[in-house]
Amino acid sequence: MTIESELTDISVVRYMIRRFGLRLKHRLGQNFLIRKDVVDAVVEASELTPESRVLEIGPGIGTLTQGLARTGAQVTALEIDERLKEILERTLEPYSNVKIIYGDVMKADLSGIMGGARWHVAANLPYYITTPVLILLIQSGLPIDLITVMMQKEVADRILAAPGGKEYGALTLAVRYYCEAEKIMDVPPSSFLPPPAVTSTVLRLRMRKNPPVTVRNEKLLFRLIKICFAQRRKIFSNNLRNGGISADDAARILETAGIDGNRRAETFSLEEFGRLSDAWDQIQSEDRTNSSCKTETDIL
Ligand code: SAM
Repeated sequence: MTIESELTDISVVRYMIRRFGLRLKHRLGQNFLIRKDVVDAVVEASELTPESRVLEIGPGIGTLTQGLARTGAQVTALEIDERLKEILERTLEPYSNVKIIYGDVMKADLSGIMGGARWHVAANLPYYITTPVLILLIQSGLPIDLITVMMQKEVADRILAAPGGKEYGALTLAVRYYCEAEKIMDVPPSSFLPPPAVTSTVLRLRMRKNPPVTVRNEKLLFRLIKICFAQRRKIFSNNLRNGGISADDAARILETAGIDGNRRAETFSLEEFGRLSDAWDQIQSEDRTNSSCKTETDIL
């Protein structure tokens, strides 16, 4: 039995934890995979070739890392917990194509690590940090083509949600704007040591070359989405007013976009949010033009 081939075997994982005196940290989401078919599915979904570069977030004891390394791709793994160093040196020793960096993914210089090349990302993400990591990966303009990630099923359901349901929200729309999301599989708690309290899901996010809607002002689109989902049970015209937009401007936005303000924002598609944010941007620039004309008239 080699450590290289058996890391998904629960007795090997238990042995490694005992042998290296590791106390698992719940707060770092240290639930290690113990199912080979799940590791294989994540690796296959990652679409790696020996020419690829893949960033793994949170290698743990190196279970998924080994699978990624066996594709021949260049693997960079970023791990926050330096106590895992001794184990990782041992489990990843046979792979010259793996580099481990110790640090926090939220603070690491990812664009420095990635340089000019194109990257894939693969991870069994720690649950406490799933949403901020995803937002960082998709919104920072990093050179990433594909992200294959395991997360809490509840977060995956929010990402895949259709308009109208309670799971549909700002995360759904942000991911939809930047990526095409696809479910690979659900993974039960028994696939990890120790088992987490919830079911997990593996998603593959393919970064889009162009967003599915073209808007005049991307920042305004996401500001509008944030305002709307801050109070999701309210009707849309009330969301606008609560977001500091005057009743007058709210009426103009709705009229310009041709949208019924009595609907709830949770029923709007990304395309409808795009129309509304363009209408808002348009009335803002009309107002700017009008006020500069007024100032000139005043001066004259
Ligand atoms: N990849 C391994 C597997 O599938 O068995 C371990 C996955 S475990 C769910 C999450 C890993 O992420 C742990 O090793 C944990 O120490 C690491 N981690 C937690 N927070 C992190 C952070 N902010 N930056 C980098 N790694 C982190």
